[in-house]
Amino acid sequence: MTPENVVVIGAGAAGLMAAAAAAEKGHQVTVYEHNEKAGKKIYITGKGRCNLTNACDAEEFFTHVVRNPKFVYSAYYQYDQQRVMDFMEANGCPVKVERGKRVFPVSDHASDVTKAFTDFLRKKHVRVFYNQGVREILTEDLESAVPSPAPSGDPKYAKKAGKNKKPVQTKAVRGVALEDGRTVPCSRVILCTGGRSYPSTGSTGDGYRLSMDLGHSIEEPAPSLVPLTVKEAWPLDLQGLALKNVSVSFYPLDQEGKGKKKPVFEDFGEMLFTHFGISGPIILTGSCSLDFRRHPEGYRLFLNLKPAIPSGELEERLFREFALAPGKKLANALRSLFPQRLAEAVADLSGLGQDLEVRKIDAQGIHAIAGLIQALPMTVTGTRGFAEAIVTRGGISTREINPSTMESKLVQGLYFAGEVIDIDAHTGGFNLQLAWSTGHLAGWSV
Ligand SMILES: Cc1cc2nc3c(=O)[nH]c(=O)nc-3n(C[C@H](O)[C@H](O)[C@H](O)COP(=O)(O)OP(=O)(O)OC[C@H]3O[C@@H](n4cnc5c(N)ncnc54)[C@H](O)[C@@H]3O)c2cc1C
Repeated sequence: MTPENVVVIGAGAAGLMAAAAAAEKGHQVTVYEHNEKAGKKIYITGKGRCNLTNACDAEEFFTHVVRNPKFVYSAYYQYDQQRVMDFMEANGCPVKVERGKRVFPVSDHASDVTKAFTDFLRKKHVRVFYNQGVREILTEDLESAVPSPAPSGDPKYAKKAGKNKKPVQTKAVRGVALEDGRTVPCSRVILCTGGRSYPSTGSTGDGYRLSMDLGHSIEEPAPSLVPLTVKEAWPLDLQGLALKNVSVSFYPLDQEGKGKKKPVFEDFGEMLFTHFGISGPIILTGSCSLDFRRHPEGYRLFLNLKPAIPSGELEERLFREFALAPGKKLANALRSLFPQRLAEAVADLSGLGQDLEVRKIDAQGIHAIAGLIQALPMTVTGTRGFAEAIVTRGGISTREINPSTMESKLVQGLYFAGEVIDIDAHTGGFNLQLAWSTGHLAGWSV
């Protein structure tokens, strides 16, 4: 094997792993990162503790990959969670497994994950340049070997390549142009620039432009694993209130009344009311299944506050409790079921009011209250955007990337890894595992 001159663009999770794998294989590797340090996003993952992977089995792992799970099979099987944990242990970052098989550094410091990589890269003589962004990937035409000026980038994320056209390599990588104007010759580039979420960490969407300039198609990026905004005012009054053991189900609003009864998402767990709407684990996971471009009117969300109680039993319980203390006001009576603020909200939403004595509530009223408790409706109007999205859905089309190598099917010597690709997963360490697996495969394949 002849060592290649490999340039890695971006020193996030995928770029660090890609550089480590390429260096391990004996290549001469240079990393360009436009931030002042490596792994700026890694520092804020897992609330600063970095949930770096998830120790579940392969079958479960793929149930958590939302888009294009088949595309990542090869990457995952050649570098799975165990290999990530072994790498960490071998490079000064012992790990532990917590609730939900989430894996963290024993130190609880995300910075130790990044340090394991930067120490490794130093040992392997990888050159890492900070405050140095890449502006363009230089190519030449494969047949004639005449340098081909890259076509200018399409400002919109329009799909360029026809869906049915078989992609072919017509260009080969010859170097990169840096933001300071210098050009660096190389025959291999691994593009690891991330998506568009949390742009303050450096992932500003550059990778989409760089690859579109070379003819790649982009599945339109959208915020995912993101808090949601709601139309009603009452959830905002409950801001700060966290609920456990509740369930949610989402239905597109434009399908209401059209006989489509199946929710696009339902789950059980924890959620949180905020000053703009709703957040928390089941809401973030639910956001992966919502598409506001397809359903611009938004979604109806039904919140079941007591999913463990069969509906008939809930009514009977209300009957019993109301009969035991007939003089109690409705909001106070509901406090045996919920925190006060929520009990007040349910009483208001029932239309009966907080102060109505429960002895005045008839069977129909009790039926209505029980119905509300198990299907409290909200109108979800949108997301909090890329600024608050944990990941970006969409990105470079997987149809144009060879899943066995991560190489572009259009440009010889161009490889992709991490969130810049149209892959994303649920919370729990799965997104970082995608970055490690695809990063390793790309670095190993060059
Ligand atoms: C708040 C938060 C918490 C999260 N917590 C977890 C978690 O606990 N577990 C988990 O699995 N996932 C978590 N994620 C998701 C996970 O962090 C990402 O999926 C993962 O970091 C993606 O890695 P990446 O290398 O593809 O992209 P990034 O980490 O975004 O790295 C891209 C890098 O490329 C650089 N770059 C961009 N453009 C250029 C350019 N033109 N030239 C040079 N450099 C460039 C950027 O500065 C950046 O350093 C979290 C995300 C967020 C926002």
